[in-house]
Amino acid sequence: MVDYEKEDGMSTLIMKFGGTSVGSVQAHAQAAEIVLEQAREWDRLIVVVSAMSGVTDLLIEGAQTASHGDDQTYRGIVEDLRTIHNQVVDELLDSDGEHVHIQASVAQYLDDFAVFCNSIHVLGELTPRAMDAISSFGERINARILAAYLRQQGLHSKAVDSTELIITDDKFQKAVPLMDLTRNHIERLLTPLFEQGVVPVITGFIAATEDGVTTTLGRGGSDYSASIIGVCLEADEVWIWTDVDGVMTSDPKIVPKAKSLPLLSYNEVSELAYFGAKVVHPRTIQPVVEHGIPLRVKNTTNPTHPGTLIDQNPEKVKSTVKAVTLIEGLSMVNVEGRGMMGVPGIAARTFAAVASQGASVLMITQASSEQSISFLLPVETVESVLHALKEEMTLELARRDIEKIWARDGVVIVTAVGAGLRETPGVGARIFGALAEVGINVIAVAQGSSECSISLAIAAKDAVRAVRQIHEDVILNPGVYLYKSREE
Ligand code: ADP
Ligand code: ASP
Ligand code: MG
Repeated sequence: MVDYEKEDGMSTLIMKFGGTSVGSVQAHAQAAEIVLEQAREWDRLIVVVSAMSGVTDLLIEGAQTASHGDDQTYRGIVEDLRTIHNQVVDELLDSDGEHVHIQASVAQYLDDFAVFCNSIHVLGELTPRAMDAISSFGERINARILAAYLRQQGLHSKAVDSTELIITDDKFQKAVPLMDLTRNHIERLLTPLFEQGVVPVITGFIAATEDGVTTTLGRGGSDYSASIIGVCLEADEVWIWTDVDGVMTSDPKIVPKAKSLPLLSYNEVSELAYFGAKVVHPRTIQPVVEHGIPLRVKNTTNPTHPGTLIDQNPEKVKSTVKAVTLIEGLSMVNVEGRGMMGVPGIAARTFAAVASQGASVLMITQASSEQSISFLLPVETVESVLHALKEEMTLELARRDIEKIWARDGVVIVTAVGAGLRETPGVGARIFGALAEVGINVIAVAQGSSECSISLAIAAKDAVRAVRQIHEDVILNPGVYLYKSREE
């Protein structure tokens, strides 16, 4: 075990358990075992917990169907959620202990959920604010179950709602933490718990505005909660417990041969996460980078595996391309015209129009002739973006300075990531060569500004083949490929 000696002599570890790590009776028991073990090793241990896997999806489905006039689906979901949670409560908690109390707490949250859905059904409207309140129930319930089970195992533990700790702005569904306020709240509320030797089990994903209105940090945001809390407590490390052996060379669900990566830099993981590696939420990295806090990603079902260590040591492991990721469900918008060259500020106006629709652009390319600007965004935002663009460029379209504004659906982004990309010439050629070998056409290319990623826009029908081909030909056989290209 790492022996940390800080000025105050306190070692602090944050451990976050994702949905599948606390998604069943066995998973809860396994997670609790890990907590008990680490509680012996660290002066201060903080647990951050997600909802049980699938629960947040069900809560959202209940709210959405209610807003569309369906008052049956959410009732069914209430019963499904009751079954899912009670099975864990019944099997884990002794009937002469906290069983009754926690079961009542589950019932209360599910009653609240039903009341919310009923109001949404009556009003026929679902606001982002209501969505955040509703999607918070999974974490609230699960933190209570895990804390009760830990108490039953003899650990002094307490469930804490992060609405009391993480204070954000009111951008519902993607709230931004106000770090000074958050730090004050965390210190004020958690310090007395540490003094009593309590291990707090904190809800991931959720937070609140200064006025106490529930917000969320975005889907998959429990990782981000852990890093925010880690920074506020000046933790020695933050560990993300999930269902795979750390960050891997690709998503093992797409590439069964994917291997665990022992060491990655913050930059590499930021790129990986941004370009679709769901294993770490993209916003997780920024707070820990600023404070140089190491992040580990570990497997709850294989706890002795070292997983991945992420810190600021990018060059320890030299390899050109370390991982390949995929983002699906995108469209490529093209703004084209020979007269564009003469129109000032065309790019700025294009992206201002995109931003006005709240759409996030994932990749941009511009032809050097300035005859076209192309960018990729989620398919669900494309219609409103096209509309806004055509309105913004009415004059240019009438003058035929811009000839066409159009979208191509069914596009994905495949990204190759690795710090070695920076200093190795010809990596792009290797990737294109690998794809050409299997007849895959690349629609557009962009290199990340950190120079540790290359992103390719590819037709959705080729997505999985492209990821597997880059994995096989460029990641698994770098030596072979380098040798080949040197001979040519
Ligand atoms: P959790 O519920 O623990 O937060 P997630 O489902 O959010 O777990 O993230 C873990 C999943 O991320 C894995 O099961 C895996 O399918 C997926 N994944 C995508 N890309 C990668 C990658 N490069 N390395 C590891 N896992 C990845
Ligand atoms: N439960 C939330 C979600 O499903 C947060 C998380 O899992 O990190 O998005
Ligand atoms: Mg996750």
